[in-house]
Amino acid sequence: MPHPLDWLDDALDHLDRRHLRRTLAARTGPQRGDKIDLGGQTLVNFGSNDYLGLANHPEVIAAVRTALDEAGWGAGASPLVTGRTDLHAKLEHELAAFEGTEAALLFPTGYAANVGAITSLVGQGDAIFSDELNHASIIDGCRLSGAVICVFPHRDVAALGSVLRDSGNAGRRLIVTESLFSMTGDFAPLAALADLAQQHDATLMVDEAHATGIYGRRGRGLCEESGVEDGVHVRTGTLSKALGGHGGFVVGSQKLIDWLANRARPYVFSTAAPAPVAAAGLCGLKLIASQPERRQSLLKLASYAREQFLQHRFECGSSSSQILPLILGDAGRAMSAAQRLRDRGFFVPAIRPPSVPEGKSLLRISLTCLHTEQQLDDLVAALGALY
Ligand SMILES: *Cc1c(COP(=O)(O)O)cnc(C)c1O
Repeated sequence: MPHPLDWLDDALDHLDRRHLRRTLAARTGPQRGDKIDLGGQTLVNFGSNDYLGLANHPEVIAAVRTALDEAGWGAGASPLVTGRTDLHAKLEHELAAFEGTEAALLFPTGYAANVGAITSLVGQGDAIFSDELNHASIIDGCRLSGAVICVFPHRDVAALGSVLRDSGNAGRRLIVTESLFSMTGDFAPLAALADLAQQHDATLMVDEAHATGIYGRRGRGLCEESGVEDGVHVRTGTLSKALGGHGGFVVGSQKLIDWLANRARPYVFSTAAPAPVAAAGLCGLKLIASQPERRQSLLKLASYAREQFLQHRFECGSSSSQILPLILGDAGRAMSAAQRLRDRGFFVPAIRPPSVPEGKSLLRISLTCLHTEQQLDDLVAALGALY
């Protein structure tokens, strides 16, 4: 008897043949930033977004334990019904204060924050201008919105300017970009984008997922670092990376947040995160404010790594951050490089389509403030043996 899902055998084989099939690994033990226990091996971990080593920080763990005792676990309903606790409200308040905005709204994930924000702000008859390397959550928000999507070449301000000029009779216009691109580690030209948005009366939305907690004087991100906060109308981020916790957020004006709380479907139709998750976010924010040395040592390590890579002529694109891509091109080549590194004691994920464009597979090295220069020297030696 044929089964309606028999086509999956061929589809999965097809992924296998192109080195694109994912297998599910399971880490044991906590996310440690510098080391990972995987398949019975302890590896130096270059595959974590826990950039500041907060995911397993004792104060975060203690805050979660306390909240668990006081507020319990399951949230039991969406935030608009009964899922939102005083801890959620406090975190939104503290997030807005941290980001220097009127208000903030928590989403179950950063993915949901992007989808919710975009689909609430534009629809049919409107136009979105999206950088070609934007994250899948931005792409999905664009697609779901029903607006016309105009993808502009990566960081190409001139190209964006020209499509904006040609789009005079579109309805509302939304420019959307990541501030720190998640796979290439390079920065968006935020000041130029803010100028263009202003010239063309467009809304500018910036996703700070990989920059929150790390860049800028207070650690708000690259909008702060580039001094463009006032020109950015919608900022999104996640508590799941440098903040070491879980959940996404949007910050901006009170009226923006009021609108999203009414209209953003991933907010309205999804259960709130458990209250201890909000407690972890609050503790992460506190640690970012009180321990700037974490981000300082991360940035120092990142520039040390870039120097080493440059000296060894490793091709790492235009990264200027804690994310260092080693571009290998072919997916099979990236997979075998990752395996050989693993044999030498390093976990470095191979990133393949659809996370990157076809032919642009890479090893994505992400640094945390817990790594040492010695670990980087050892990685450089191991990479040298691959080339
Ligand atoms: C990780 C990521 C997100 C999603 O955040 P989650 O909280 O993990 O859902 C959004 N945007 C970018 C650029 C990301 O890298």
